[in-house]
Amino acid sequence: MGSASSSYVPKTIHLDVEGKPQKVVFSRHCSPSDIKELLCSSAGLPRNTSIMLVDRDGAIISIDPTVPSNSPSSPYRVIPPSAGQLGEKEDLFRNVLTQVADQLSRAFRINELKTEVTNRLALLEKRVELEGLKVVEIEKCKNDLKKLRDELTSRSNRANCPCKYDPLDDGKKLTPRRDVPSYPKYTLSKETIEALKKPTFDVWHWEHNEMLSCLEYMYHDLGLVKEFNMNPITLKRWLISIQENYRSNPFHNFRHCFCVTQMMYGMIHLCNLQEKLTLNDFGILMTAAVCHDLDHPGYNNAFEPIILLQTAYKYAELQNTEGSNCSLILFIVIASPLQEIFLKLDNLSMEEEMQAIITLILATDMARHGEILDSFQQKVDHFDFTNDEDVTCLKMVLIKCCDISNEVRPTDVAEPWVDCLLEEYFMQSDREKIEGLPVAPFMDRDKVTKPTAQIGFIKFVLIPMFETVMKLFPQIEEVMVQPLRDSRDHYEELKQIEDAMTEV
Ligand SMILES: [Zn+2]
Repeated sequence: MGSASSSYVPKTIHLDVEGKPQKVVFSRHCSPSDIKELLCSSAGLPRNTSIMLVDRDGAIISIDPTVPSNSPSSPYRVIPPSAGQLGEKEDLFRNVLTQVADQLSRAFRINELKTEVTNRLALLEKRVELEGLKVVEIEKCKNDLKKLRDELTSRSNRANCPCKYDPLDDGKKLTPRRDVPSYPKYTLSKETIEALKKPTFDVWHWEHNEMLSCLEYMYHDLGLVKEFNMNPITLKRWLISIQENYRSNPFHNFRHCFCVTQMMYGMIHLCNLQEKLTLNDFGILMTAAVCHDLDHPGYNNAFEPIILLQTAYKYAELQNTEGSNCSLILFIVIASPLQEIFLKLDNLSMEEEMQAIITLILATDMARHGEILDSFQQKVDHFDFTNDEDVTCLKMVLIKCCDISNEVRPTDVAEPWVDCLLEEYFMQSDREKIEGLPVAPFMDRDKVTKPTAQIGFIKFVLIPMFETVMKLFPQIEEVMVQPLRDSRDHYEELKQIEDAMTEV
């Protein structure tokens, strides 16, 4: 009990506070922080000041209940931390804080990077997925095209041809079995070469093989063979495959293809286009003219097997083009041989070339006549040959002009074409009548006559279009526009005679 009671005796320590004696009394059960607070108070310092307790010799005394008692003659001193010590601590603290902040910001940056990497990965995955789908689509399209080739070559009229293509020779359907001669089979005379450049060229004088030679000559003469590194033999083969794929219609046949291409060649010379357009433009113009009515069935609204149309649409969609027609379908089918011709072009440029040719082929659709002519009329007064859009529009109008340019030719060359076209129309309307389908008046043999068919077309379609082109190339007035005016007068006279005959 005695020892227990003695443990409650308070402890006393003596201090020297700036020369003044102080006495601090505390229980042995006080905590070190309580004792530190008491010491701070007695030294006149704030309660939480960090202090040291030292004896007379400067030895540091531990601040806790076991602090040794002292006498008034040997007081302890309470020492606040020096400014320097504080500064060091602050620096230390600041350094620690800076390091922590650095680590935190690094951690945040890592998080940001992580998010960015995750996002990029997600994007890449999406792209890979889309590319994969596109590859599948393109593969499917390729297969469809292969089927299409098979179908075309297995058509009876072609498969029966004894010397051209072997329908069993898979994958080489458009390659002639008997190769073309490497020596020139036809040599064009100087007079023919000159005449080829003019709209007066008589297109009725020539056999198919001769027309092929003329077409071949045009590719050489324009510099296309050299520019695109074309192999002359491949060019021959390709032109033969073109000719083979025009049907024997009264109007839309290989001779019409030749007429359009020859007129294009003539316009290139007449309008001095060599100074304004590029060889690439000529490649597009000439090839579009050659291909524009490929496989034309000879009647409107061609009912080709639905699979062919679907394939063409799909291809057009992949190529970001719109619409479809028979020529487009076959043009796509012959796309591979075309690539063999334009050897110089890499895949990307070839795609662009195909795209540009498709645009021109689609422009020959008369349903788009108003739209294309309006667009050209808006550009013609401030036409800019360095502007791609203007040049594309001009090319569309040029192929349109060539496509319907028969009336530009002398009457004895032009007039048989009217008979051919009417024959083609009448074949369709006769069939429609038998099937009980509605018949368009301009195709009805009971309603249409040559003058009535021609006058409206020349006055409202041909002359306005050629006169617009004349604003850009005044030199066509004498050679192309005047013959159109003469042709209009000719048919108006014929109509007067016809009317007079009817009255009688
Ligand atoms: Zn045509």
